Amino acid sequence: MSNRSYKIGVIKGDGIGPEIIDEAIKVLDAVSVQEDFTLKYEEMLLGGAAIDETGIPLPDETVNGVKKCDSVLFGAIGGPKWDNLERHLRPESGLLALRKAMGTFANLRPAMVYDELVNASSLKPEVIKGADIMVVRELTGGIYFGQPRELHENEAFNTMRYTREEVIRISKVAFEIAMKRDKRICSVDKANVLEVSQFWREIVEEVSTEYPEVELSHMYVDNAAMQLIRDPKQFDVILTGNIFGDILSDAASMLSGSIGLLPSASTGMGVGLYEPIHGSAPDIAGQGIANPLATISSASMMLRYALGENDAADRIDNAIKRALSEGYRTGDLGDYDAKEICSCTEMGDIIANYASK
Ligand code: NAD
Repeated sequence: MSNRSYKIGVIKGDGIGPEIIDEAIKVLDAVSVQEDFTLKYEEMLLGGAAIDETGIPLPDETVNGVKKCDSVLFGAIGGPKWDNLERHLRPESGLLALRKAMGTFANLRPAMVYDELVNASSLKPEVIKGADIMVVRELTGGIYFGQPRELHENEAFNTMRYTREEVIRISKVAFEIAMKRDKRICSVDKANVLEVSQFWREIVEEVSTEYPEVELSHMYVDNAAMQLIRDPKQFDVILTGNIFGDILSDAASMLSGSIGLLPSASTGMGVGLYEPIHGSAPDIAGQGIANPLATISSASMMLRYALGENDAADRIDNAIKRALSEGYRTGDLGDYDAKEICSCTEMGDIIANYASK
């Protein structure tokens, strides 16, 4: 009998959040039985669900609760119901504040193309087959957090700001990851126009001297957006700031055919947050058609990176590949090579079943 036991904070959130998290937990339970460890879940409130219950998007219980967990699995927050609230009371403010409180300054977003789904992408198969990119996005600085920020009747502004320490620590995360991959980093900025990007570039260069094996290049963000679509296979690790990473990683996600496939990890100084890259998809919430694979993959990343349960993570990754290669698809993946279009729950059942074999 193993004594490996982990406490997992679970934040279901809004929209499709509860549906996709339920499937990820189903799969986690299946692999924990197979690999003989115990997961204890503790549900916490964030976003619209927290506003409805407590009046604010990030209750203190959640901030304190996550710190006592080994890791946190998160669905998504937000929706039209809360869009008209004042900015600091909106669901998104709760998520930004939680990331800040957890010190999760690094957002890792793999964008890989499953061979089985090359036809599901809007790009040509020969352009995307074999693409495997890791976007390392700085998550707690930059224009989303910079002060001053103001909104007036005839003027509004935000501030893009980075400190030396912020750029050094995110660069180190990217270089460490590159060392475990193809040892290539493309740092993306807008150094031809923005001083903050010039600063970013100089510091990334400095950090690169500690990693002589890693090949560093730089690219302006507008060109990077184009190159991602033109020739995604040229990239290994993309290192970039908060707003550029937000946009580029969504663009990169479409290489894989659907935003509903891709996981992410937000890590940094302590407990990490594992979440799909997509939002709460209010347009399909409650219909049972959401793709749970991004969240199930996030659970796999959590097992691998936060808990070191690599065998369990492999079980999940292999189960996803098997389900896709056998033609199981959720609606967002289209009917390319599909044997069966599954509901959210059916896909969760299939992955849990395959991951148990
Ligand atoms: P979204 O990612 O929620 O949805 C974009 C499109 O992709 C929609 O058509 C949606 O149906 C589809 N989609 C997303 N995930 C899917 C899945 N798993 N399966 C099938 N289809 C899926 O982005 P949006 O529409 O811009 O935002 C909706 C809400 O989500 C907003 O309130 C936004 O602020 C919030 N949001 C939250 C997060 C987060 O919680 N991390 C991230 C982005 C957006």
